[in-house]
Amino acid sequence: MSCVEDQRVILCPCTICRKVGFFSSEKPKIKTTRLCVLILQSLKEIKPLQDYFNLKDDVYLFIQQHWNILSNITIFKKQNWKKSILDAFNHCPQIKSGKELFNNIGYYKLKDGIITSISDDTEILETMNSIVMASIQNVINQLYNNLLILNKFGNDLIAQQHSYIMMNLLTSLCN
Ligand SMILES: [Zn+2]
Repeated sequence: MSCVEDQRVILCPCTICRKVGFFSSEKPKIKTTRLCVLILQSLKEIKPLQDYFNLKDDVYLFIQQHWNILSNITIFKKQNWKKSILDAFNHCPQIKSGKELFNNIGYYKLKDGIITSISDDTEILETMNSIVMASIQNVINQLYNNLLILNKFGNDLIAQQHSYIMMNLLTSLCN
């Protein structure tokens, strides 16, 4: 990831960029239809005056510009991801096609009232959970290390007291 790309990601205020924590977690799980809803929501945030978004001009370009964040998702590791995205756009009940309006396929918008708030998102909760679990694991590892060091002091009374406190901490953390 280059510095320029980094800055773009930070400057872009869209929903996908705000969820960078979720998308860069080890195996981000997201339904393709849900992903398409988030992409349309993000496009609307970037271009609030535009109603329908074109698959080639808007959606694929958006994906390309957000490749740093999105390429971690399983669907984008496949060669035919464009076909999967197209299918999801056509089958997602929350997405409206502009076929009649434009007399052309490839135009989509979110149905009214679909914009999801960021606060009650399960993805955010899952990310928070994994961050908290990782930091607890870090503390546990540190405590184990400290105990190993203290054990080298043999029968020293203070070392024993410290060991006792740390064992208690470990027990409560591991429960
Ligand atoms: Zn963005």
